[in-house]
Amino acid sequence: MALKIYMNGKLVRRKDARVSVFDHGVLYGDGVFEGIRSYNRLVFKLKEHIDRLYESAGAIKLKIPLAKTNMIKAVIATLRANRLNDAYIRLVVTRGEGDLGLDPKKCDGLPTIFIIADKIKLYPEKFYKQGLEIIVASTRRNVCEALSPEIKSLNYLNNILAKMEATKAGVEEAIMLNYDGHVAECTGDNIFIAKGGRLFTPPVTAGILKGITRQSVLDIAGRSGIAASENILTTRDLFGADECFLTGTAAEIVPVAKIDNKVIGKGKPGEITFKLREEFGKLTQIDGVRY
Ligand code: PMP
Repeated sequence: MALKIYMNGKLVRRKDARVSVFDHGVLYGDGVFEGIRSYNRLVFKLKEHIDRLYESAGAIKLKIPLAKTNMIKAVIATLRANRLNDAYIRLVVTRGEGDLGLDPKKCDGLPTIFIIADKIKLYPEKFYKQGLEIIVASTRRNVCEALSPEIKSLNYLNNILAKMEATKAGVEEAIMLNYDGHVAECTGDNIFIAKGGRLFTPPVTAGILKGITRQSVLDIAGRSGIAASENILTTRDLFGADECFLTGTAAEIVPVAKIDNKVIGKGKPGEITFKLREEFGKLTQIDGVRY
């Protein structure tokens, strides 16, 4: 359990880390966040996460009153205060306190910033060995023109509705299609398939979060001589794939064995997934900001 929470510049006890009921993050989901991980006292891709946080904030015209370098220092201070070697870090910036109307202009101009560093909770090990079973949700991913999935905002209801479908079906994750019926991403992960020795993942224009683990996988593939491309994918492509896996900060690289009860490839983690998992594991031990 987290010992100390970073709250607007101070490290406070968990029970003292409180947000106002007038905070627009609470009232309207008006805010942005990041989920970051550290391995063996190295924060993985910290700069990339901070850059994405500020990009998300910029997209909703939320000015973060802290320079990026100071935000990095705040993350490091929180990790040190919690004495965690391996951690999951949740960094949240909300619009701050306002009145009961929507207008962010009526907020006090003091965004609420908090950082939680806690132990990481992973999918059980068996899923990494056997592969996950997932479904295709009927809930579609947000249309870019309404709320771009590229913005990592506090508005996750769209994903939560799809996650509830997964839970109802007795599985861990759900694939979300975009409005055109093409594959977008999962509720908290990006998706890849391998076919004929090549990797494919939906492009950002399909309406996805530009996952940092997704980018690490594309980089690793490039270095390992595995051809990879961003392509429009249909569910038919998924069902006909040799391999399928999901990527995310928390999940890392998790193989998929079945989609909608249909076996994918050999129904167990494939060679490419295995190789990428191995290389990703190595990367997390050397690539990061030390604390
Ligand atoms: N898509 C969604 C909707 C997510 O919430 C996440 C988790 N942040 C991802 C994809 C994976 O992104 P990342 O690899 O940066 O964690």
